[in-house]
Amino acid sequence: MANQDDKWQQDTTAIRGGYQRTHENEHSEAMFLTSSYVFENTEMAAKYFSNELQGNVYSRYTNPTVRSFEERLAAMEEGEQCVATASGMAAALSVIMALLKSGDHVVCSQDVFGSTRVMMNKYIVKFGVEVTYVPLGDLSAWADAIQPNTKMLFCETPSNPLSEVADLEALAALSKKTNALFVVDNCFCTPILQKPLNWGADIVLHSATKYIDGQGRCLGGAVVGSAALMEEVVGFLRAAGPSMSPFNAWVFLKGLETLRIRMQAHSANAAELAVWLNAHPKVTKVYYAGLEEHPGHGLAKKQQSGFGGVVSFCVEGGREQAWRVIDSTKMLSLTANLGDAKTTIVHPATTTHGRLSDDEREAAGISQSLIRVAVGLEDIIDIKADLELGLGAL
Ligand SMILES: *Cc1c(COP(=O)(O)O)cnc(C)c1O
Repeated sequence: MANQDDKWQQDTTAIRGGYQRTHENEHSEAMFLTSSYVFENTEMAAKYFSNELQGNVYSRYTNPTVRSFEERLAAMEEGEQCVATASGMAAALSVIMALLKSGDHVVCSQDVFGSTRVMMNKYIVKFGVEVTYVPLGDLSAWADAIQPNTKMLFCETPSNPLSEVADLEALAALSKKTNALFVVDNCFCTPILQKPLNWGADIVLHSATKYIDGQGRCLGGAVVGSAALMEEVVGFLRAAGPSMSPFNAWVFLKGLETLRIRMQAHSANAAELAVWLNAHPKVTKVYYAGLEEHPGHGLAKKQQSGFGGVVSFCVEGGREQAWRVIDSTKMLSLTANLGDAKTTIVHPATTTHGRLSDDEREAAGISQSLIRVAVGLEDIIDIKADLELGLGAL
């Protein structure tokens, strides 16, 4: 299936990479909805099963549509290989299960995605893997947390919902010195705005559910990295099964085609909204790395080519006031999803971060007055007008 990906510019790869037409000469990519494949004869079946011949055996581990998505995304992240998974969480789980063992230690940024934290604290620890959380932007805290058994540094940048930014180059250097793998959840930026592998990360994770889909239809995830590391991850998928469905892979394959223009439009709308909120009398604080006064602005400018679509802000008061603002909007969708053409609004402290203890939430800086907006692609005039309805209710 591989074609001329290496020679193409990113915009071309995003549209044509990872796919060759079948004998039907279809123009849009074909979708292979098949769970298994037929062998020419018993000898060939034996060769495929023993890996002596590479080919399709069973869709838990290979499917042509899934492979097209994997090749296209790998090329866009400038990684050797990609492994698609059933969801973003399945991607994180697969990396941990494939590459860590009992007795290993992970240093993780404290404001990772809520389920990532629950997965580590409730399940991964059961298998004897220790986790230490550190503030994303505090390099000396990362260095201090390293132990002789540290095998993985794990972060998400910019963070959700406060838009804090990790120094990818510095963390990559620390991981090399430590002989630990450096894993970056690149869901918020996508390869359009940030390519962590080029800053020295070993592995990039995605929730394709968000911007890669872009219209809130399917769950999916991906892991990108060296062929050697991905072989381990594929081995876990083959044995354990959190694989991507070919239908979802087809939707994501089409999503990649429009990803650049969507990421630029999300970023432009979010930047305008952040400036507007910053000047709004009812808003006490705005979190968006695109604002010059944001502490992560300089780093984000260095390692990202845009600031993304997520803007968070606080209002005067607490939970009651934040809920009133959200409930008084009419157009924005009250949902925890993000990366959608439709703008979404959510109260992190009682939803996405509701499972954290009060102490954990406070350490992560998620106050009760905080509201997160994942800015969509509607006209910014209407997004502002709807938020004005919400803020006007205070
Ligand atoms: C949504 C999300 C995930 C989890 O992805 P799912 O596809 O929902 O399993 C992981 N990381 C980040 C940053 C996310 O936003």
